[in-house]
Amino acid sequence: MQNVDAQELAKFSDLAHRWWDPESEFRPLHQINPLRLEWIDDLAVLRGKTVLDVGCGGGILAEAMALRAARVTGIDLATKPLGVARLHALEAGVENIEYREIATEVLAEEQPGRFDVVTCMEMLEHVPDPAAVVRACSRLARPGGWVFFSTLNRNPKAFLFAIIGAEYVLNLLPKGTHEYARFIRPSELARWCRDSGLALHGSRGMQYNPLTRQYWMSADTSVNYLIACRKPA
Ligand code: SAH
Repeated sequence: MQNVDAQELAKFSDLAHRWWDPESEFRPLHQINPLRLEWIDDLAVLRGKTVLDVGCGGGILAEAMALRAARVTGIDLATKPLGVARLHALEAGVENIEYREIATEVLAEEQPGRFDVVTCMEMLEHVPDPAAVVRACSRLARPGGWVFFSTLNRNPKAFLFAIIGAEYVLNLLPKGTHEYARFIRPSELARWCRDSGLALHGSRGMQYNPLTRQYWMSADTSVNYLIACRKPA
């Protein structure tokens, strides 16, 4: 049995043709992308690195990392977003990127320790067994490599901001994009990382001001947050 929820993949496939429209349902991903890219590049230094982007979707982060001169592989299990990602890279003339439809756990069997950097953004809250994805990401990183995750925290504020605010009040995301029960507390994610042999390096939170429609990063991890880990050398 694969660690995947077909309904979740269908949600992303149905919207795939709008993935690179910066005013679409994917506007939040486009807006946060420069922020997370900078954080990742500052820590892991992408130039010349072999990078895996897990749950890459239409390739917003994967392609941006390739443009920072990393050799990038993007994987996902949704067919249409991968098609969009391939086409966009082709049109943009980005050649140091490859997309594959393969489960994280299967790639971890195939190529353990291959990647200098593994990123897995806004994906864990869509899979049935996120801890298994964390384990696979850890296996895929080389000793001394970096592993980054981002997801949504689980607390009343996150429910209010990420579901009520984003889906029902501000219409930033389609209703039903996120399911509260699948949100992940930083302490839970940190435990899965430690149990997978990863050492926690740091965390950041993503903030949004609906009046200015601007995002920024801070130390506040109460809603949307990122963590950086290292696999011991
Ligand atoms: N990481 C990208 C896209 C986030 S959207 C970004 O941050 O820009 C979530 C993505 O996770 C979708 O593309 C969806 O197809 C993918 N996904 C959901 N379940 C998955 C699974 N079990 N394996 C791989 N990808 C999955």
